[in-house]
Amino acid sequence: MPVDEWIELPTGGNLYELPGRKGIGIDVETGAMRLCEKGWAVAAFIPPAHTGLYMAAYETAKDAPTLPLFCYTAAGWLNEKIYVPAVRIEQDIRQEAEGYAEEQIETGATNLLAAYPHNRLVKHLMENCCMTYTCPAARNLAIGRWECPVPVSPACNANCIGCISFQPEDETIISTQDRLTFKPTAEEIIEFTVPHLQTAPFPLISFGQGCEGEPLLMWETIREAIIEIRKHTQKGSININTNGSMPKAVKALCEVGLNSIRVSTNSARKNIYTSYYLPNNYAFEDLFESLKTVRSYGGWTSINYFVFPGMTDSIEEYEALRKLIRETDLCMIQWRNFNIDPDWYLGKIGVTDTGESMGVKQMMELIREEFPNVKFGYFNPSMERIKGNFEIDFAH
Ligand code: SF4
Repeated sequence: MPVDEWIELPTGGNLYELPGRKGIGIDVETGAMRLCEKGWAVAAFIPPAHTGLYMAAYETAKDAPTLPLFCYTAAGWLNEKIYVPAVRIEQDIRQEAEGYAEEQIETGATNLLAAYPHNRLVKHLMENCCMTYTCPAARNLAIGRWECPVPVSPACNANCIGCISFQPEDETIISTQDRLTFKPTAEEIIEFTVPHLQTAPFPLISFGQGCEGEPLLMWETIREAIIEIRKHTQKGSININTNGSMPKAVKALCEVGLNSIRVSTNSARKNIYTSYYLPNNYAFEDLFESLKTVRSYGGWTSINYFVFPGMTDSIEEYEALRKLIRETDLCMIQWRNFNIDPDWYLGKIGVTDTGESMGVKQMMELIREEFPNVKFGYFNPSMERIKGNFEIDFAH
């Protein structure tokens, strides 16, 4: 791994010991690759806004437990510091670990709960997401800034192997948060999102969160909410994070003012996508249709691209991604770390050979060179970035 691909583990990152897994490394004397017999392997969880370039190398014992839904980036240390092969892909500071003051969050949550005592969605967002799951988006809502999460759907039309809001009983791992259990009304959505759009810096609201199923299954309620919200304010961006399964519903939302869409995918290849998402009553091609539909209304489109080093940077995937960008006139790639046990994932989707890989950084450079207008990042951009200067200097 080239030295220039390593950075110090950013604040908010963690180190994990991997039970039942022996580390693999290069012997400093012989230069040969060998197993480390001492202790378990270690990997790093790198914080948002950074994309991991290589996974930790280890050998997994037959009886090793499945790892929980986190990313397992390679890690090393030098001069008492921890380093990871990663890049800062996003300059937006909305989920910087240092940016969260507990007292401010608690006060904000208390005020929101008091302001909307009968609003089930505010109750869910403040009591569960903000104060229990410590979701960065819900904490930003409590502080009254940036992106406001709006989960709406208790159900989903996909069955992702690594779903973060629902894991089947017979799986040994658990979902990182519980799925919403009720269907919010348009009134409950409008009540707290309008003031957020009117008062927050760089305001946007996003339907489709980690604590729900597929928001497009609730498109009629979302449509009603958007119509009402835009009667009160034209400020900010209205975004939907989705699996892109229902292009007709996306069209109906664009007609009333949806500004941007982020379609999640583990791959730009149909077979890899389908064996992971296990879709009900929709097909991979619907993702393309949903992205094209939003572009046809002048909206902003992103893919929430789950990066799995060694597979995402394969030649086949690279070619498929080029095709997706060309055919959908894509605006942005959010290079997200895939939070999943690598062996478990490959086993579940039936992949034994991930193909020849070029390196994630190399792939990013090739895409950037061929598609200079395609933005790279990690978060949904505000209207100020979509319409104005995308490279806003967040540090000042
Ligand atoms: S689309 Fe989202 S909610 Fe649905 S199964 Fe996949 S990860 Fe879970």
